Amino acid sequence: MKISFAPPFIDDDVKNEVISALESGWITTGPKVKALEDATAKYAGIENVLCVNSATSALMLVLHWLGIGDGDEVIVPAYTYCATALAVMHVGATPVMVDIREDFNIDPAKVKAAITSKTKAIIPVDFAGWPCDYIALNEVVNDEQIKSAFKPKGTIQEQLGRIAIVADAAHSFGASYNNKRTGSLADITVFSFHAVKNLTTAEGGAICITMPAPFNNADIYKTLRLWSLNGQTKDAFTKSQAGGWRYDIVYPGFKINMPDVCAAIGLAQIRKYDESIWKERQRVFDFFDKSFSSKSWAQIPPYKKEGNTCSYHLYPLRINNFTEQQRDQVIEKITEAGVAVNVHFIPLPLLSIFKQREYQMDNYPVAYNNFAREISLPIYPQLNNNMCEYIVSTVIKAVEEVGV
Ligand SMILES: *Cc1c(COP(=O)(O)O)cnc(C)c1O
Repeated sequence: MKISFAPPFIDDDVKNEVISALESGWITTGPKVKALEDATAKYAGIENVLCVNSATSALMLVLHWLGIGDGDEVIVPAYTYCATALAVMHVGATPVMVDIREDFNIDPAKVKAAITSKTKAIIPVDFAGWPCDYIALNEVVNDEQIKSAFKPKGTIQEQLGRIAIVADAAHSFGASYNNKRTGSLADITVFSFHAVKNLTTAEGGAICITMPAPFNNADIYKTLRLWSLNGQTKDAFTKSQAGGWRYDIVYPGFKINMPDVCAAIGLAQIRKYDESIWKERQRVFDFFDKSFSSKSWAQIPPYKKEGNTCSYHLYPLRINNFTEQQRDQVIEKITEAGVAVNVHFIPLPLLSIFKQREYQMDNYPVAYNNFAREISLPIYPQLNNNMCEYIVSTVIKAVEEVGV
């Protein structure tokens, strides 16, 4: 049996929505993007969402809007996809990496210890779709001592008066924390709609704008939208209407808007997200949990807690007491049996560009230990019970052959 890792969820409703964009006479940013923004906002229980062309550019736009740049520091987990840290570097700031907890998410105590007078933001990452400890993170940024040591640069930072929390929720669309959906848990939250993510637009990202009072989030939406379209006062759709030709450029903006033809995919998916996409992922997750829980060598992901739900983006299985080499051998055997698996993530300090900048893996022991023992299994709605059975038996056989 051949099982791929993360194929996109494409059914007739997705195809019909894309065809409707193609046949409408308008394929880039327009009514479908607006509809996806509204549906995303409604889903997250918030008011203002801006769609752009990726989560990476969403993070860059948000950091830039917050006035973060040269000489500033932004705290990120050492255990994430490179984009979290690259977005920080692209605005000229320095990513400061901290270690994670056993659940793969950023450790708020380590965040607190890493804060300096240059710290302007924290980017927690909801690994595998399990929300970070936002209560603890909020306590850190609101700590009186930390707040009074905060050195704001520019009017936005002055108005906020503390370190900002910008959530990287690339994995966690549909998850909740304390009975609140992701998208509503930080100052600003970024979703990824990349092809392998739970909800996709092929490439895409969404910015959930939930800055605290006295910020006006509808105004921030307008500003960010303008900055995502070259700083042009009229978007192409408005200009395409009769009499709409004259425009001005009022800010040196980026060009990172989402096309309607892409938004169409996400729009069809979000309508059935809870009933089919999320629920079917949960089915696969529970199947794996049940199958591995009897194995003494298996550490199943700790993603069940009253009031919290996972988006089930990944199934990060860890093998107790395994070395990185043993884990790699297991992956080889699983691959030979036709099952595509992955490792999430190679910790940032092990990647060349960060090594060159002298980040050292030794400083992040929990991240290394999780990485060395981790295998991400396929998890998506199209996996039937037969396929899940095959994945489980393949993994068990491979682990037991390598030896536990
Ligand atoms: C996928 C991913 C991103 C980047 O998303 P893009 O939409 O591809 O830019 C950022 N952070 C994490 C944790 C991711 O997994």
